[in-house]
Amino acid sequence: MRDAFEIRASDGLARVGRLTVPRAGVTVETPALMPVVNPNLQTISPRRLHDEFGAEILITNSYIIRNTDDLRERAEEQGLHEMLDFPGAIVTDSGSFQLAEYGEIDTTTTEILRFQHEIGSDVGTPVDVPTPPDVSRERAEEELAATEEALADAEAVDTGEMLVNAPVQGSTYTDLREQAGAHAAGTDLDVFPVGAVVPLLNSYRYDDMIDVAAAAKRGLGADCPVHLFGAGHPMMFALAAAMGCDLFDSAAYALYARDGRYLTVRGTEQLEDLSYLPCPCPVCTEHDPDSLRALDERERENALAEHNLHVTFAEIRRVRQAIREGSLLELVEERARAHPASADGYKALLDHADQLERSDRVSKGTFFYTSPESARRPEVLRHHERLQRLETPERVLLTEFGEPTDHDHDAVWRVEPPFGPFPPSLSETYPLHAETPDRMEDAAYVAAADGVAALAAANPGTTFTLGHDDWPAQALEELPEGVVTEDLSELGAS
Ligand SMILES: [Zn+2]
Repeated sequence: MRDAFEIRASDGLARVGRLTVPRAGVTVETPALMPVVNPNLQTISPRRLHDEFGAEILITNSYIIRNTDDLRERAEEQGLHEMLDFPGAIVTDSGSFQLAEYGEIDTTTTEILRFQHEIGSDVGTPVDVPTPPDVSRERAEEELAATEEALADAEAVDTGEMLVNAPVQGSTYTDLREQAGAHAAGTDLDVFPVGAVVPLLNSYRYDDMIDVAAAAKRGLGADCPVHLFGAGHPMMFALAAAMGCDLFDSAAYALYARDGRYLTVRGTEQLEDLSYLPCPCPVCTEHDPDSLRALDERERENALAEHNLHVTFAEIRRVRQAIREGSLLELVEERARAHPASADGYKALLDHADQLERSDRVSKGTFFYTSPESARRPEVLRHHERLQRLETPERVLLTEFGEPTDHDHDAVWRVEPPFGPFPPSLSETYPLHAETPDRMEDAAYVAAADGVAALAAANPGTTFTLGHDDWPAQALEELPEGVVTEDLSELGAS
């Protein structure tokens, strides 16, 4: 177990955790958002980020500080906390971004980590190599080797109480990401940023982002705090948290504000296109779009940045609440309906249902079926796995209706799409007391048929009769031979 990170509640791979940052003397609740603070240009002061917005942790760039004379002098003299006037935890980046951007930087992991330690950073970062998506495998491997060397160099530096990031690279090669995750987890470093996903996020490739994060998570294991580096748009927090990401960083709140972009959990709007401000934050209750547009440039940028932060922090709180009550996948579904990229991301997440299922908790509130994707959730998968272990007597009636008054079956089990059959003893357990709509897609019935097939395969000696409510042909075709079916909907029994 890694000492710095404690998991307090979980929902699938998502967790509410506590990251202890000893050098700052603070504990950060995760999932957490780290606002990116540009040491040269502060849209909103770090003190306000802490006091007004509740930021417990922020991230700034030690390379820019080191290479800007007056910043370096002040940081060396006062330390980062006093210089930025921020009482929470301060993470520093190393210049990797500049390395990726310009191909070369004038520092090394050893030197920049010592510098980060000297100026009072709480979480330092080595000089890893952020490999973009879709590069050749050869390049991805070469650069990953350089990143792994940087981690070894980082381990050798005496950084005292400062935590140190161990970035996970590997481009869009999922086997490399998994290998990089396992390597990083094998070091004695502390926090695990999944790097170079920004190009995927910027081009709305949320499905590829999920595959990359899923691979990194397989390598890292459950006890590693994971930072999805460069992810700051609130529309994808629920999705990324569901894949087990604990830390996000936002430069978006300030960058978007600079060119008039207004963040929402459904996507990004242009201030100039808005007729209303659909948000209850202080900025949006004090203003309407016209009064915001009428502000001078600097004031408008500040107001938009404030709104963007309010929306961003609110979504983080909503995600934490959903994890605690076990309803995160319902929130992910809701977000998935708002944007095609989020829908793709959610579908990709469900491709990893087995990975989610392994750490899913046994009981939650109530399973809500809200879309055909609900039929692919880890809870459905888990129930089908359980059906393979249940034993049945000789003649069993599986029915969507109540128990008939007169029958010659040895047992009567209920059937509920999308789960399939279950014995009466399980009917009040999670997720089988689900809330389902009257109108479900074929996918729900096909999933239920898969459940019947799993039970039948485990009990070859049993004769099953399925009393169903007008199941679609596609679902009936999924049933194994030997299952007798009766469409009971004609009896009006429902
Ligand atoms: Zn607002």
